[in-house]
Order: sequence, then structure tokens, then C-alpha cells
Amino acid sequence: MAGDEYPVLQLRPGREFAILRGHPWVFSGAFRELPPAIPPGSVVDVVAANGEWVARGQLAPRNSLAFRVLTLDPQETIDEAFYVRRIERALALRRLLPADLDAYRVVNAEADFLPGLIVDRFADVLVAQLHTAGAEAHRRPIVAALQQVLAPSGILLRNDVKVREREGLAFGAATVAAGEVPESVEIVEHGVRYLVDPYHGQKTGFFLDQREKRYFVGGLAPHFASLLNCFSYSGGFALAALANNPTLRTVNVDSSDAALDLARRNYTLNGHDLTRHEFVALDANRYLHEAAAAGQTFEIVVVDPPAFAKNMGMKERALRGYEALNFAATHVVAPGGLLLTCSCSGAVAVEEFEAAVQQGFLRADRVAQLVASFGPSLDHPTLPGFPEDRYLKALLYRLVS
Ligand code: SAH
Repeated sequence: MAGDEYPVLQLRPGREFAILRGHPWVFSGAFRELPPAIPPGSVVDVVAANGEWVARGQLAPRNSLAFRVLTLDPQETIDEAFYVRRIERALALRRLLPADLDAYRVVNAEADFLPGLIVDRFADVLVAQLHTAGAEAHRRPIVAALQQVLAPSGILLRNDVKVREREGLAFGAATVAAGEVPESVEIVEHGVRYLVDPYHGQKTGFFLDQREKRYFVGGLAPHFASLLNCFSYSGGFALAALANNPTLRTVNVDSSDAALDLARRNYTLNGHDLTRHEFVALDANRYLHEAAAAGQTFEIVVVDPPAFAKNMGMKERALRGYEALNFAATHVVAPGGLLLTCSCSGAVAVEEFEAAVQQGFLRADRVAQLVASFGPSLDHPTLPGFPEDRYLKALLYRLVS
């Protein structure tokens, strides 16, 4: 299909500059008009106010985030071969990952020039999320391209993502798009074995975005005797630490019984004695207050809550939440101990998060050193000039006194 066969939308003056600088989104107000007859998910061409061709991408007329860039090349047709090229390019980056893992994010949406598409690999299985009307409209070529490039034993589509509703898409159960997908998949991450539930597990089944933090904490574990894993999910941080220090005492706290069940299975899978460790189904804030009141301390404390701010409107409340949570966590960190504190709120910038955490330290009268800071990673790249995508922040502190 030649480029001029796509519907053409015109921008208001000056609105092309952000796209040309690599920003992949255009909001509805930037268009001169959005013809209602173009169906959601359609591929359209965008031209500047002076008529010059700017980009080709997908339209979501019902979302204020109306257009996402697929290509800046007017010659590039959006078909199965396009998806094959993009997925191969994404895979080339993942080939730089260490060899001792078989689970990683293959496609990280906009940052891999495939807006609205998330694909995680768990051993031979792929779990994908189609977040946008555009990605949904191209479900077939996307699935075909994934089969061609990665030859998985099965592809599962997880459509239980809230953002789909903003695009007018159905919110629903997981569906197998190709091959077979078992109820449980075993993966290996730097020698640690984890069971992943691709159908019902949180997100796509596993928090791949915390891998290098788990590994970093694991590397420090031989120097310490105890670890508290708040918001533990399936035990990731504790298991990574135990891999390097099998005598470590660990406590996992999560409000989800299913998450803790999976954590227990993972402990057993890795040969750890369940009776030496604790799995506490409780609100983490409540646990921290009770532990502090009982005078308990740990030498490593990990705090990895779900997003407090899902949008800008929730930011102030989220910052107060981070301050309160870190204030509480500080009370159970032994002097000389480590606190790894995380935020996956897209609306909270790293400086803001750091200030909220610092406020918690000041209120608790603790002196801290920031010893490491984590952002994007190899399989979770982000684009220069696209801070909207930098949701994950993790800060590692040593509490000196
Ligand atoms: N650190 C984990 C990922 C954590 S995801 C890993 O490396 O895999 C966040 C977790 O917080 C989820 O498992 C969710 O069940 C849990 N959670 C959400 N609200 C909570 C609360 N108020 N108290 C404790 N856990 C909570």
C-alpha cells in the first residue's frame, strides 16, 4: 500500500516539532480536526499545517491521546513485515542481556517503536498486552510476526489492562492467540527459578522490570542476615538474596494470598525451607507499624508498592503516601542497613520521589546515604525526550544511623 492511501490528518501550526524530536504521542487538540468517520485504530498520515508529511501512526479518536507514531518514514507500509522488522530490532537489544535468564520484555511499546504493544517472554511462552485501539486493530499481523520472529510454543493475550477502556476496547480475560500456554511456566533469572502464572498472575505474570534490582540486592545479601520484602509478590527480592546467602532470614509481606502462595512454591522450588521464613498476608503499612511497635528490625528492607499515582491528578496524594510509607519503613531498618525503595508511578518524577523519601527520613530522624539509583534497563528502554514513559524508579539507601 502506497503512503498516500492512508487518511491524512492535519496538525495545527507548530505541533509537528515534538514528533520530529522523537516524541511518539499527539493529543487531540493538536489536530485541526479529527474526522469522526475514521474508525479507532486506523493507520493515518499526519501532515504539518503547511502540508508537509510528518508521521504515520494510529488513531484513537475517543482518547485525548489521539495519535501514536509508528514510523517517520513515508515509504514504510504498516503490514506484517513492518511488525517483523520492529520485533527483530527489539530482539537485537535483548540479545545483549546476560545468558543466564530466559524471561525478559521483548517489546516495550513506544520505546521499541511499537506503541501500545507489550510482549514479555517467559521461557518458550509469550504474554502480550494490546493497550491501544491501534495495537488491537493489528492483532493478526502482530501475532503472526511474533510467531515468525520468536517461534514461541504459545502466545497469550492479557486483555485485563485498564488502559484499554480509554481506547474503547474490551477489558477481559486472557485468550490464547497461538499454540498452547500452560497454567504455570517456570523461568530462570540469574540462577533463581520462579513459577509464573501467565493467565492470572499480576501484570503479565511476573515483574520483569525489577530484575536488575533483584540481582543487585542479591549481590549484597552475603553481607547481611535478614531481609524484609514488602509488597513481595512471588518473593522475587527475597529469593534473589537467598540465592547468594542461603542462611538469610526473610519475611515476605503482601496483601494478596495468591501472591504469597506463589512465593511459597518458589521457595520450595529453590530448595529453601519454608519453616525458616515468614509469609505475611497483610497491608504492608500495617505490617511496618506493627513490626516497628514490636521493636523488630531488618538489615535489608525492600519496599516495592503498586503505583500510587496512576495520573497527574493523584500526584500530591501519592507523594504523601510515599513519604508515609518510607517513614514507616525507616523504623524497621537496622542501623547500617539498606532500604531499597521503589515507585512505579508514572506521574511522579524521580526527583519528586526522592524528596518524598527524604522527608520520611527527616521525620524519622534517620541519616541516610543514597548508594544506587535505578531507572530504565536493557529490556525496559525508554526514549530520550519522552519522560511520560519513565514510570519506574528505585533508590537504594544505607541508613547510617
Ligand atoms: N517486588 C515484586 C513486585 C511487587 S508488585 C517483585 O519483584 O516481583 C506489588 C505487590 O504489592 C503486588 O504483589 C500486590 O499484591 C501487593 N500489594 C498491593 N497493595 C498492597 C498493600 N496495601 N499491602 C501489601 N501488599 C500490597
